[in-house]
Amino acid sequence: MSKRVLVISDIHANLPALEAVIHHAGKVDEVWCLGDLVGYGPFPNECIQLIKDTPNITCMLGNHDAAALGQIEVEAFNTDARLSIRWAQQELTPANVDFLASLPEKMIIENTTLVHGSPRNPVWEYILDNHIAGLNFAHFDTPVCIVGHTHLPVMYCAEHPTQRTIPPYDTELNLTKKCLLNPGSVGQPRDRDNRAAYAIYQPALRKWEIRRVPYNIELTQKAILGAGLPYRHSIRLLEGW
Ligand code: ZN
Repeated sequence: MSKRVLVISDIHANLPALEAVIHHAGKVDEVWCLGDLVGYGPFPNECIQLIKDTPNITCMLGNHDAAALGQIEVEAFNTDARLSIRWAQQELTPANVDFLASLPEKMIIENTTLVHGSPRNPVWEYILDNHIAGLNFAHFDTPVCIVGHTHLPVMYCAEHPTQRTIPPYDTELNLTKKCLLNPGSVGQPRDRDNRAAYAIYQPALRKWEIRRVPYNIELTQKAILGAGLPYRHSIRLLEGW
């Protein structure tokens, strides 16, 4: 059997969503995480602990993780995002701060490049359109690069012009071209579908499959409000933006 990798990104301190994804994915050989463990959500320490307890996990640094560490100025974020970063800074245990500080910005594993944002600007650039994707193909040498950051499950393939596709769910796609792949977001989907998103990747076969799973949104919403975090962060989870 070919190695199966659970690919997750943008957990954003949403523990019920992370638990639902891990349970739904079933048995996998490895887990690759594209970063943003914290920010927005109410369970930063719990999510980091679950990530630390997950066997064979490789995790990248996201922009919210970098901001929680003080590596990026919080002024670079909008007001509501800033509030949750400051809150996470107060909440994080020293051991979990150390864990975030240990995360790399970029890694090549199984002939696949992993970054949070984009290969040319790993922590900050958003790949939101064909043009930006096209410019980034020159910045990685592996056949596949996996990114997060936009919270949208989407793929770009190096053709002329660059092809942008929203992959069908529960379908194994054979990747034949050079591709930039995004598994979507576990903890804060932004495509008006409030289910957690993740991918199953088989690096040796270059097969990529996006899946969606419902989770207990109300539990996360209650904890957001209980922690005094912005109402906006709670309502957007239900609406998926
Ligand atoms: Zn994010």
